[in-house]
Amino acid sequence: MALVNEHYLKLSDNYLFADIAKKVNAFKVSHPHTRVISLGIGDVTQPLCPAVIAAMHKAVDEMSSKTTFKGYGPERGYDFLRDAIIKHDYLSRGIHLDSSEVFINDGAKSDTGNIGEIVRWDNSIGVTDPIYPVYIDSNVMCGRAGVLKDGRWSNVTYMPCTEANGFVPQIPSHRVDMIYLCYPNNPTGTALPKEELRQWVNYALRNDTLILFDAAYEAYIREPGIPHSIYEIKGARKVAIEFRSYSKTAGFTGVRCGYTVIPKELTAVTIDGTRRIELNHLWERRQCTKFNGTSYISQRAAEAIYTPEGKEQIKKVIDYYMGNADIMREALTRLGLKVYGGKNAPYLWVKTPGSTDSWKFFEQMLYSAGVVCTPGVGFGPSGEGFVRLTAFGDREDCREAMTRLEKWIKA
Ligand SMILES: *Cc1c(COP(=O)(O)O)cnc(C)c1O
Repeated sequence: MALVNEHYLKLSDNYLFADIAKKVNAFKVSHPHTRVISLGIGDVTQPLCPAVIAAMHKAVDEMSSKTTFKGYGPERGYDFLRDAIIKHDYLSRGIHLDSSEVFINDGAKSDTGNIGEIVRWDNSIGVTDPIYPVYIDSNVMCGRAGVLKDGRWSNVTYMPCTEANGFVPQIPSHRVDMIYLCYPNNPTGTALPKEELRQWVNYALRNDTLILFDAAYEAYIREPGIPHSIYEIKGARKVAIEFRSYSKTAGFTGVRCGYTVIPKELTAVTIDGTRRIELNHLWERRQCTKFNGTSYISQRAAEAIYTPEGKEQIKKVIDYYMGNADIMREALTRLGLKVYGGKNAPYLWVKTPGSTDSWKFFEQMLYSAGVVCTPGVGFGPSGEGFVRLTAFGDREDCREAMTRLEKWIKA
């Protein structure tokens, strides 16, 4: 008799985006003539850039000939890509990494979700609130999150990011074993200045805390003084794992490629406290057992974004999305709404007017303007009273959505 993993039964059935889809579909049935504009789901809309397409075509052709065909690749990823990452993403910022510290993957969701396997199930965890749901749910699945009471998990320290603290989480007053940080942040769209991030690294050094740093939106940073990598902070190599992804950087949500950095200096302790173990080694062991690499074609595609043409082309797309963010922020502010984020991230975090709750505002926006947003409360208790709008749409849709919101709110 096979027994189920009971921790899975603790997960809530209602997946946020499934709930939204259900409500949007109900609206479409009752309003067949309204064209719904979605500023909801965080997926890109613009095609892959020409440099990436050319690299993929070339890689496909290589697969067609016996002499250039590629079978299983190295579990950590091909050297050509790891070397490009080290040179362009790190060396250019004065960070020296060894290629054995970089693990190519099929996207940041896999690794942020799986990384918990190499540490004990009973470590305590800390998360910012609101939060990308993967961090909590993946810990619920192995029992690390504890039990759910009044909407909060017993073994999770929630660090609220609110209007009052400028969406900068307060450092816990107690020791936490593992902390997830995502900057620039999804969903609030806010970034963490270098001095703030330094406080976190220092906390981790003092408390022997492991920081899991998700930098999926690093490419959207436009202001100076915002770290692109946690390793820009002294001492971070001893305490932090960094996750990067080509999904938002280069439109790879359907291609699938990203990477994780685990410095050799990063260690965790055995339960008897006698030995410190390199996490890089454990992750390599895990990957060699459970992962057979990202496709050669995807890795060649990723390599192409580091060429001069590739860099220019992906920057153009990012600028396009950030142009949307500017248009949206301006329009919404003009309508008297309070808007946060959108300067170093493709998300706008919009305060609902009055005391309207997230879901209520979501429905008002849908029924009055035919525009879909994401209710902030879906990302955690501190997201109540906010909605998230994404800048990933087409420019025309984005303008049209703002016009509709104007008509609705001014009416
Ligand atoms: C989109 C996103 C990712 C990237 O996920 P992939 O699996 O690489 O597509 C990672 N973290 C956050 C917070 C995201 O929003």
